[in-house]
Amino acid sequence: MPRLLLIEDDLTIRTPLARALRDRGHAVAAASTAMAGLRDALDDRPDLVVLDLGLPDLDGRELLRMLRAVSAVPVIVATARDDETEIVRVLDAGADDYVVKPFTAAQLDARIRAVLRRGGASAEVTTLAVGGLRVDPRSRQVTLDGAPVELTPREFDLLHHLAARPGEVVTKRELLTEVWQIPYGGADKTVDVHLSWLRRKLGESAQQPRYLHTVRGVGVRLESPGGGG
Ligand code: CA
Repeated sequence: MPRLLLIEDDLTIRTPLARALRDRGHAVAAASTAMAGLRDALDDRPDLVVLDLGLPDLDGRELLRMLRAVSAVPVIVATARDDETEIVRVLDAGADDYVVKPFTAAQLDARIRAVLRRGGASAEVTTLAVGGLRVDPRSRQVTLDGAPVELTPREFDLLHHLAARPGEVVTKRELLTEVWQIPYGGADKTVDVHLSWLRRKLGESAQQPRYLHTVRGVGVRLESPGGGG
């Protein structure tokens, strides 16, 4: 039975939502402040956290960053805003998915099961090797020619997605959908910005690419500098 931690200060949401999630087969613990939620997440090690962004003691995004610094627990954020800026921000801060208020318990339950499935699937994946690049999805560590490369969670996801399909052109639209889980276009800049950060960390540039090759107007392709993947 999946163990959930629900961090939500509003009693009129928390109580019925916890009950509905229990009815759907989850074990649910609840916290009403960010600090209590952080403590419970570390002490009780839940399988997944549902985090309300509007908390009385600390902004939910700040809590998400603090949590991400010390834990890889999957997090689904509940936000009152559904604009793209907000959604990109919470996904970049390390959320695995989001629901926009008001949402139903059925929708949240479906997203919880999808996130838990993804987590279970990635545990079976092995280290990817392309040229001198090693991408380990279990430890989420990357080395280039044997030297560790420090990446943000989003940069790791981006590199992992590209390294899983060496030599193939991956479109920005696909990256937005698969890496950022944004189901529509129009945020190409997000991909470009993260690609440029990733390039810098891999010691290359768009002008002098080694692994990451931009295909103008189409997308990006990761390949071994020696050829042959
Ligand atoms: Ca709230």
